[in-house]
Amino acid sequence: MIPPAFDYHAPQTLEEALSLLDEYGDDAKILSGGHSLIPMMKLRLAQPEHIVDINALTELEYIREENGVIYIGGLTREVALEESDIIHARLPLVSEVLPLIADPQVRNLATIGGNLAHGDPGNDHPAVMLALGATIVAQGPEGKRSIHINDFFEDFYMTALEPEEILTEIQIPVPPQGSGGSYKKLERKVGDYAVAGVAAQVTVDGSGACTSAGLALTNVHYIPFKVTDGEDVLVGSKLDKEAIEKAAGIASEQCDPSNDLRGSVEYKRAMVLELTRRALRDAANQARG
Ligand SMILES: Cc1cc2nc3c(=O)[nH]c(=O)nc-3n(C[C@H](O)[C@H](O)[C@H](O)COP(=O)(O)OP(=O)(O)OC[C@H]3O[C@@H](n4cnc5c(N)ncnc54)[C@H](O)[C@@H]3O)c2cc1C
Repeated sequence: MIPPAFDYHAPQTLEEALSLLDEYGDDAKILSGGHSLIPMMKLRLAQPEHIVDINALTELEYIREENGVIYIGGLTREVALEESDIIHARLPLVSEVLPLIADPQVRNLATIGGNLAHGDPGNDHPAVMLALGATIVAQGPEGKRSIHINDFFEDFYMTALEPEEILTEIQIPVPPQGSGGSYKKLERKVGDYAVAGVAAQVTVDGSGACTSAGLALTNVHYIPFKVTDGEDVLVGSKLDKEAIEKAAGIASEQCDPSNDLRGSVEYKRAMVLELTRRALRDAANQARG
């Protein structure tokens, strides 16, 4: 399938890219890895008149740690995250999700910024970022602004980004001592989008009580779904069977999956229940050391 005609722009600097986006606004789309945008264009689900290819902006490709925060440039490829010692050592939950995203060919080009900016509830990074409490940095003609991940996913394929903004950075706090995380994904075959996915991240204190919890779901709601009520049940608990069962029940009841080729609503709710139990059990065991 051939996408509709468009004008192609290849800015060499961030300023140039921002000025093009400012000029063309809603008629332009940013191209990063292209693994979501190009299929959408071929299917005529996106018909931008202008493509602003930001692949020359290599200053947006980095992973670094400063003062307990991991900073990831928006154009950082999935493969770079997979090969990063910082990610493996400091963000094991991110490390766990990477090999579950698509396949190596896609991950060679696809970017974490594109994965989040696309706003696809079927993508895996959003739930992980919700569980970790990340912050998104967007740069537009007026400068930079920070958007907490809880406020980032606004609607089906819609994020808080303005058309003239570039997602330039993701900031993830390094979980403290006594933390553990787990991502459970059910897929029909390797490389597929999730039937359902669950990201869990917890921290416990010396007595084993949960001091913070992040719980979020993939592909079972119109947006990546943060299970706030489930998190509330976990915090203050000992992450025992009762608390985990209650949080998993809330996740399964409050998500709103659709009936599709990946399964019925009932099946997906049942999978969310079981995957949440497993993710929380693994996260809790890691946190307890
Ligand atoms: C066969 C296949 C299987 C896949 N399976 C999975 C999977 O299992 N899990 C998963 O999570 N993903 C999966 N994906 C999606 C893949 O991870 C995409 O690459 C990703 O969703 C988008 O990243 P990208 O860099 O390719 O973005 P692009 O396709 O270039 O862009 C996607 C959207 O985000 C916008 N955008 C891109 N970068 C920015 C930026 N820096 N600032 C603002 N807006 C931006 C674009 O304008 C566009 O609207 C799969 C893709 C394919 C082709």
